[in-house]
Amino acid sequence: TTNHLRHVESMASLPSGAGKISHLNAVILGEALASEENDFVFPSDAFSHQALIPSPHKYLEMYKRSIEDPAGFWSGIASSQFYWKQKWGDQVCSENLDVRKGDIKIEWFKGGITNICYNCLDRNIDAGLADKIALYWESNEPGFDAHLTYSQLLHRVCQLANYLKSIGVRKGDAVIVYLPMLMELPITMLACARIGAVHSVVFAGFSSESLAQRIVDCKPKVVITCNAVRRGPKTIHLKDIVDAALVESAKNGISIDVCLTYENQSALKRESTKWQEGRDVWWEDVVPKYPTTCDVEWVDAEDPLFLLYTSGSTGKPKGVLHTTGGYMVYTATTFKYAFDYKESDVYWCTADCGWITGHSYVTYGPMLNGATVVVYEGAPNYPDSGRCWDIVDKYKVTIFYTAPTLVRSLMRDGDEASCISNLVYTLKSPYVTRYSRKSLRVLGSVGEPINPSAWRWFFNLVGGSRCPISDTWWQTETGGFMITPLPGAWPQKPGSATFPFFGVQPVIVDEKGTEIDGECSGYLCVKGSWPGAFRTLYGDHERYETTYFRPFPGYYFTGDGCSRDKDGYHWLTGRVDDVINVSGHRIGTAEVESALVSHPQCAEAAVVGVEHEVKGQGIYAFVTLVEGVPYSEELRKSLILIVRNQIGAFAAPDKIHWAPGLPKTRSGKIMRRILRKIASRQLDELGDISTLAEPGVVDQLIALADS
Ligand code: ATP
Ligand code: MG
Repeated sequence: TTNHLRHVESMASLPSGAGKISHLNAVILGEALASEENDFVFPSDAFSHQALIPSPHKYLEMYKRSIEDPAGFWSGIASSQFYWKQKWGDQVCSENLDVRKGDIKIEWFKGGITNICYNCLDRNIDAGLADKIALYWESNEPGFDAHLTYSQLLHRVCQLANYLKSIGVRKGDAVIVYLPMLMELPITMLACARIGAVHSVVFAGFSSESLAQRIVDCKPKVVITCNAVRRGPKTIHLKDIVDAALVESAKNGISIDVCLTYENQSALKRESTKWQEGRDVWWEDVVPKYPTTCDVEWVDAEDPLFLLYTSGSTGKPKGVLHTTGGYMVYTATTFKYAFDYKESDVYWCTADCGWITGHSYVTYGPMLNGATVVVYEGAPNYPDSGRCWDIVDKYKVTIFYTAPTLVRSLMRDGDEASCISNLVYTLKSPYVTRYSRKSLRVLGSVGEPINPSAWRWFFNLVGGSRCPISDTWWQTETGGFMITPLPGAWPQKPGSATFPFFGVQPVIVDEKGTEIDGECSGYLCVKGSWPGAFRTLYGDHERYETTYFRPFPGYYFTGDGCSRDKDGYHWLTGRVDDVINVSGHRIGTAEVESALVSHPQCAEAAVVGVEHEVKGQGIYAFVTLVEGVPYSEELRKSLILIVRNQIGAFAAPDKIHWAPGLPKTRSGKIMRRILRKIASRQLDELGDISTLAEPGVVDQLIALADS
């Protein structure tokens, strides 16, 4: 059917991991390791044998079915693995994805009646998981923790659901949630879902203006927050931020009757919390008084589940709307296969529920599978850079899912490992190696392309060369994974997101929107729909069509650039808006950054294009060095050289700008929009920097501009 299918077919003739274990590595590390040959990293035989999808052939068989008969494929999964109060109508999927044929419309399982909270909790409890741990909660302060079984979680969810009903929250009402990573955050999401309310979680790091903007946009019945949180050594007074946001939103005509506030005692006592009588209510005073059972509000598969604003890397955040049925089926299925989920797994995703990753892969995807989930309140490097591995050992985490930014920052903090070959590091990083990490079996990455050197550190050092890495490419808009390794099936290539998930048809198009085949590079689009796709931008269907469906009519446009190599592997090259054109060569930011980061003294890099008289655009690189390494002319030259050698002279940076830190969104993504302004010295046009995690880095960068 598709070009992609042909690529996959040719890939399927590759030998599987069997017999490919490199003796050298096995001898050095004394274990059955994965092996690397010609860029391929094969899963070990032991891993593949136990995997849900053990081979390219099995993948191909299922992938083919998912593309040739999407309705049959997805309805088979939907009816066998979920509870529906009533089956959907005759059409599993009805869609118009072509702007030339009218309004864009995507519907899956329309007419099907279900509830995602019921499917996460009641269904699993009925299947015997009542006493299984649903949530392990780890406090910012080592030594403090808590946990809930599936039946305890259901009780908590029902109490909150009953309370929300008592204050008049009804099906379809919006609820703004501004909570840190407490157990109360997934509890709140599930309680909203139980009564058909639409949650909109706002990352509890956003400013009062950002919060107010979202409150005004979705007009919630209630705002749910907590008084304060400890993150690393800092205490953040969330309730003060909410108070300011409510003042701001009142000015815009939206006043909120109830602000339900959880007293997070380890951070702040209620006596010290500012309070507005009549509006503010302590969670602990009301919620526990409600019954621990609560009838489910049955909803249509196409009723809205939540509204979530994108992280805003490229400008004003978009209010992405997801509905119930398709999202449920898609997040559960992607979770299961991409992480090779087994009932005995203990799963930890470091993302905050304020991002899509926390929606799909902290709360819904894992809980639909009845998984045990670790939720960590604090900072990953607190009290030191070993904290993540401490948590892994404490809970015997088997699946660990994180972001490249975290991998790079942990690499930077005190990693003395030096690379002897691509596969073998001398294990000198005390923060990692003082922990066992033996429980780990699958690793995951999301948020940005993972540089091959960071991939190798993660794979070799953290995962002891045993654990495949699922480098999951997806977006807030896609609801779930789109291009991702299935860990037992494919040999991986460090830095490649590999192949599409079942039912997903990625296509690469040129400027004119023509599909290009074979080894190529261009704009990443998706053909057809998949159940987890977003249905609209809240209150702005026009912007939805313009942003995603008009640029290349007939396709969903992702905004990302991508190349496909001779083996059919997909490599995300960064946002297309960030592509740099040097003397006619189109260069993705990811490629140059990865070359820079492969330098042993470079911890992180971000490149942007600047105007250049001769070349059209020149490459301007911001470089963060490994802790303790001094700036020097010699180092500057060797950084330029490494790019020349790895990519070619045309990609050599024209300028290296030392960067003690890089401007990042609060979800950890580099904001190149701001770097472009600094690079071109348009310092009065930096634009909105309120969504930056640490606005201070901008001044640091400006100060170092000409050093
Ligand atoms: P905005 O759309 O508001 O600018 P955003 O795109 O950063 O924000 P998200 O939906 O959180 O918001 O991020 C999705 C984007 O993250 C993708 O389009 C892609 O650029 C990047 N991304 C996510 N995962 C990967 C990955 N595994 N490899 C490469 N890039 C990734
Ligand atoms: Mg985006």
